[in-house]
Amino acid sequence: MKAFTKICTIALLALATGACSNAQNDGLNGTLWLQSSVEFKANALGTYRLGAMMLDAALEDKTWTAVPAEQRGDFAAKPPAVILDVDETVLDNSLYQAWVVRANGRYSSKTWGPFVDAALSKPVPGSLAFIKTAAAKGVKIFYVTNRSAPTEAATRKNLVKFGYPVDTSEDTVLTKGEKKAWKSSKKSPRRAHVAAKHRVIMVFGDNFGDFVDGYKGDMAARQALYEKHADMWGRKWFMLANPTYGSWESAAFGHDWRKPGPERRQMKRDALEAWQP
Ligand SMILES: [Mg+2]
Repeated sequence: MKAFTKICTIALLALATGACSNAQNDGLNGTLWLQSSVEFKANALGTYRLGAMMLDAALEDKTWTAVPAEQRGDFAAKPPAVILDVDETVLDNSLYQAWVVRANGRYSSKTWGPFVDAALSKPVPGSLAFIKTAAAKGVKIFYVTNRSAPTEAATRKNLVKFGYPVDTSEDTVLTKGEKKAWKSSKKSPRRAHVAAKHRVIMVFGDNFGDFVDGYKGDMAARQALYEKHADMWGRKWFMLANPTYGSWESAAFGHDWRKPGPERRQMKRDALEAWQP
């Protein structure tokens, strides 16, 4: 019994410190699904195919805009554009997420920076075909990302590596903090920047914040905002599935990443609506 208690104590200590090679990490299933499942691939491919099917209708209807909050004045004659987020929308960073899971760590700019610099991210299924189709129809492609301004060169390198069109006549990779007005993770100033000269016909993202600024509300507020925009989804707004991270997770703990890990985890468990047998 004494020996058993000792083994259990050692195992618990190993788990608590993350030293155990098989340590539990909340990102395991999501990362495994995003990185290796055909279910993820088919889901992403279908989302982009739906976007391609909507292109002609969006181009013909000059009153069509996917950024009603940011599209100002008479935009009918403006050239069309599509806005896409980068991470887990166009580029798949599951190599980084897999490292986080195995190390039982968490995202940090100190490890994310070198990963981005290595330009190892892979295309999200369907994204390249959709973007090429849209570009061939005269649609300008803008990448609006919360990657930081210093990582823009490496991000461009990673995009170009797979043949994603990146305009050279003007900046179409709009990073966080690149301009003073773009310091926030909230993307509306950058959507407005694109909408000033273009009619934005579609937005693609994996996070609610890729579409609206109110993504950091509580779950009820997010639900209300989602319902308010019910007619956008699958027509003008296209959401990629991302079970590895996002504001859906932090909504469970008030988006407060300063809270200790066990407290955040408890709040996520508490947020579940569960059957009681
Ligand atoms: Mg993203």
